[in-house]
Amino acid sequence: MIPYSYLSQQFAAADRAEILALIDAIAARGDFTLGREVGELEAAFAKVCGVDHAIGVANGTDALELCLEATGFGERQVITSPFSFYATASAIVRGGCSLVFADVGPDFLIDPEAIEAAITPWTTTIMPVHWAGRPCDMPAIAAIAKDHSLDVIEDAAQAVGANIAGRACGAWGDAAGFSLHPLKTVNVWGDGGVVTTGSPDAASYIRKLRNHGMVDRDHTLFWGRNSRLDTIQAAIALRELARLDGRIEARNRNAMALNERLAGVGEVLTPAPMENGRCTWYLYAIRAQRRDELQAWLESHGIEAKVHYPVPLHLQPAAEYLGYKRGAFPVAEACADETLSLPVHEFVTADDIDIMAGLIRQFYTGRA
Ligand SMILES: *Cc1c(COP(=O)(O)O)cnc(C)c1O
Repeated sequence: MIPYSYLSQQFAAADRAEILALIDAIAARGDFTLGREVGELEAAFAKVCGVDHAIGVANGTDALELCLEATGFGERQVITSPFSFYATASAIVRGGCSLVFADVGPDFLIDPEAIEAAITPWTTTIMPVHWAGRPCDMPAIAAIAKDHSLDVIEDAAQAVGANIAGRACGAWGDAAGFSLHPLKTVNVWGDGGVVTTGSPDAASYIRKLRNHGMVDRDHTLFWGRNSRLDTIQAAIALRELARLDGRIEARNRNAMALNERLAGVGEVLTPAPMENGRCTWYLYAIRAQRRDELQAWLESHGIEAKVHYPVPLHLQPAAEYLGYKRGAFPVAEACADETLSLPVHEFVTADDIDIMAGLIRQFYTGRA
């Protein structure tokens, strides 16, 4: 059995005891909201991303929404990828912006040329999604944004620790949103999120926005909301953030080993190694012919492979009002038909890699 989920291994008994002690100390202080560890996490997260400001918020979806709110008012139009998790689109729409998609390339990442083609006089913002923890082509996207005077908000939910050309995901845009969801690379025991930005104005605005617009106990500057990060979650995130590099290295090792073992299986496209930076391998997604059959074959041999995700955003029932039809974004649609995520987390062993690669080879060639 090679499971996709690793939470029970990550939080084994000794780790749980350590974390419960952290929680106990916070409870003893009664320091539950915006407490000491929130500030500590913000400082550590800013350092990892190489930015001046990080702000802890309630979840990754809020992080994106708060970024949008902090970078503009009035009518806004955001171009993003149709190949993402629902939260990318819902943050845009719930944030009061209109939603426009631009197709991805074969690597699942938004295509800069498609962004250019989607720009209208009403476009205000580009929201690239660093899918699978692989950085989008940020140098090209930053150049387009500059030419057209657009904001860039990075959906970096899957990309803590990634960089391109030496600059971290979260440090390219005007602001970026990260998620601390249990299934993300730096994860907590519930929900959490982080905003990063280089702008002191945006940082100061989001700090108030997440806490009712308050400037002090007795005064509020504007009607904000409650999107605070719990102190307990911040303490857990701090602990997990310290383990990030080791976690990415293990994933990279497993990803490269799978690439090597799957070379020559013509029905499978493996993800290219990251040349000019670091990918976190949040997902190791191959593109496979007869994907559903392959997934069932792997499952029948005890290997949990997952589809992230079978239906792109523009073909979701929620997007029907936008009027996109099948064929609108052919690359995203092909990716959705063919994508299959294999487990590469830190608890996957070299033997597991051999077993997975052997089964995939056997599925297509009849020989292990
Ligand atoms: C997980 C995720 C989010 C949302 O994060 P939550 O913390 O679950 O709200 C947004 N975008 C992408 C690409 C994600 O994977």
